[in-house]
Amino acid sequence: MFSVDVGPQYEGERIRKEEYYIELGGPHIPFKGELVTIRGMEEIEHEKVIIIGKDIKDVEEGSSHPLFIQVDIAGEALEKDMEPVFERRIHMYCNYIEGFWHMAQRDEIWLRLHKDSFKKGLNSFNEVGQILMLLFTSELPIIEKIQITFVTDAAKVEEMVLEAIKVYQARDDRLKGLIEEDIEDFYGCTLCQSFAPTHICIITPERMSLCGSVSWLDGKAAYKIDPEGPQFAVMKGELLDPEKYIYSGVNEIVALKSLGKNTVFCLHSVLENPHTSCGCFQAIVFYIPEVDGFGIVHRDFVGESVIGVPFSSLAGEASGGVQQEGYLGIAISYMRSPKFLISDGGLKKIVWLPKAIKESVKDIIPEDLYDKIATEDDAKNVDELMGYLKTTGHPLMA
Ligand code: SF4
Ligand code: ZN
Repeated sequence: MFSVDVGPQYEGERIRKEEYYIELGGPHIPFKGELVTIRGMEEIEHEKVIIIGKDIKDVEEGSSHPLFIQVDIAGEALEKDMEPVFERRIHMYCNYIEGFWHMAQRDEIWLRLHKDSFKKGLNSFNEVGQILMLLFTSELPIIEKIQITFVTDAAKVEEMVLEAIKVYQARDDRLKGLIEEDIEDFYGCTLCQSFAPTHICIITPERMSLCGSVSWLDGKAAYKIDPEGPQFAVMKGELLDPEKYIYSGVNEIVALKSLGKNTVFCLHSVLENPHTSCGCFQAIVFYIPEVDGFGIVHRDFVGESVIGVPFSSLAGEASGGVQQEGYLGIAISYMRSPKFLISDGGLKKIVWLPKAIKESVKDIIPEDLYDKIATEDDAKNVDELMGYLKTTGHPLMA
């Protein structure tokens, strides 16, 4: 029926630089994104694919382009709160397509199409759309109508991303005020086990999933829509250690889902039994022993971090579902949580941040700390960092 094969067996596939026909989004493309929106039954045309800008077959082999994927769905039983749940399925279903690779989420997506799949005939977003629509409607019957728009026109992508950022923000804001102590269930997600077989995300109201696309409310909604799906409830159980945030229920599920590989998660620590990371993290926290503090680098940061290695090398250390003390994949919005790395000292242990992140979380960094945290402009290596922290009087140097 389709030019290429489709199924979960393709989920772990990777496509190297020299192997792709087209690359969409990724760190060198400033605007890219994806969004699922619930529409009225009459607002969309079922199974329609719209392409705005160049199609796959119109581009040069080996080139990179902006992309926005807008998925519009309708159905009597759909609720606004469910949108992020469906949005995360874009990642899952794109990876079901032979020779098609999807990474990250929201306004950070990165996709590649393998030359072999292009040769087999997968040369249009129309077919990608048809496959995705089939997967969405067959796996999630709650969806009655679906329409997908692929946008590669740069100006239009930018416009759509700027609008989508407001939606992502509004979703994150819904969680304000909810705390771990007030609820009985956390949520877990094992969607990324195809890439990182021992990884599980534990999602609490104060700990956004590291991909930044499954909040506690999303986990709850997902479990309601599809109880057999990759997101499930986790009874938090007993708080075994109130300083390290070790919960008995979390440990049990972590051990079960990692087949005994990991047995203890300290929910808010980088240094001791940290939460595992798959590969979808928006940013990585890394320990800098010389200053006993942390740096954070995000996916789109181009160049070397303050410890002399780029994001990609740190990602290699942090990823794969293995507990790596000193490395932790996070969602940027986790920095806004009152429990952000609370077991390790929280925000005051941050010593280096790329300007882009620092600016985006400016409102939560205490005023007297803000200028003491170095950026790529202030320190390019650990020596410069130590000098900067001393000069500015960073609390870690006191
Ligand atoms: Fe699920 Fe975590 Fe993967 Fe996000 S990063 S899709 S929450 S397993
Ligand atoms: Zn992942």
